[in-house]
Amino acid sequence: MTANGVSSMDHDVKPLAIFDLDDTLVDYTGAILVSLDMFATERSLGEEGRAFLRAEHARPGDPRDSWLSIAQRFNLEETPEDLLDAFMASLPARVKSYDGVTEGLARLKSLGWKIALITNGEEVAQCAKMPAELRALFDVACFSETEKISKPDPAIFHAVLQRAQATPETCWMVGDSLENDVGGAVAAGLRAIWVSGDQQLPDDAARPQYVARDVFEAFRLLESMSPGVGDGRTQSSHHSPRKQA
Ligand SMILES: [Mg+2]
Repeated sequence: MTANGVSSMDHDVKPLAIFDLDDTLVDYTGAILVSLDMFATERSLGEEGRAFLRAEHARPGDPRDSWLSIAQRFNLEETPEDLLDAFMASLPARVKSYDGVTEGLARLKSLGWKIALITNGEEVAQCAKMPAELRALFDVACFSETEKISKPDPAIFHAVLQRAQATPETCWMVGDSLENDVGGAVAAGLRAIWVSGDQQLPDDAARPQYVARDVFEAFRLLESMSPGVGDGRTQSSHHSPRKQA
C-alpha cells in the first residue's frame, strides 16, 4: 500500500465494517409478522385475531403484557410467560437474511475490508438466524449474552476493535438501531451508517455520518470507501447525498 506515495496512515491496516444482525442483515421483523400470523392460524383466531396480535406486538412496553392481553382476549390456557417463551423460541428458524447479503459482504471482503458482527442476544439463537455461508464471512463476531456486554455499551465495540486489530479511524458501524448501533458506535468513537428503512432521523437522535435506506445502500457506500478506490482512504465524506450534517 506504499505505492504512489500513499501516506503512512493507510499502510496495511484493513478497514473494518461492523454490522448489526436483526433488521440489518436479516429480516427479524418479517419473521415476527410471519410467526404472529401462524399463531393466529394455528389457533383459528381469524382476521380479527391476526390484527389483534399485530397491534399487541406493536404496543410499546413489556411483551408479557401484550401476551397477557392476547391470552385474556382469546381465552388461552397458557401463561403469558409460556406464550412469550414459545413464540420467541419459534422465531430464529423463521428469520431469513435479505437476498444478496452474503454476496454483498463477500464483495466487501474481496475489496479489502474486514467484517465483524455485533448483535444483542444469545449466540445460539442469533447464529440460527444466519445461513452457514453468511456466518463464515465474519472475521470477528460478538454476541452480547456471551460477552456479558450489550450494545450500546462502548465496551462491546472496543472489544471487537481489539480482536480485529482495527482502530476507530478505519472502522464503520452499520445498523438499524439509532440507540444501540449508531449511539453506541458514536460513543465508542466510531463512525456510523444508519440503516433507516426510509424513516426520518429524529432531531434528538444520535447523528450517524450517513443514512442508508437499506444494507445494500450501506454496502455501496462502503465499497466507495474501499482501499484503493477514489482517494484511497476510508474516511471519505463526500460520496453520498445522504450524508448527515
Ligand atoms: Mg437491529
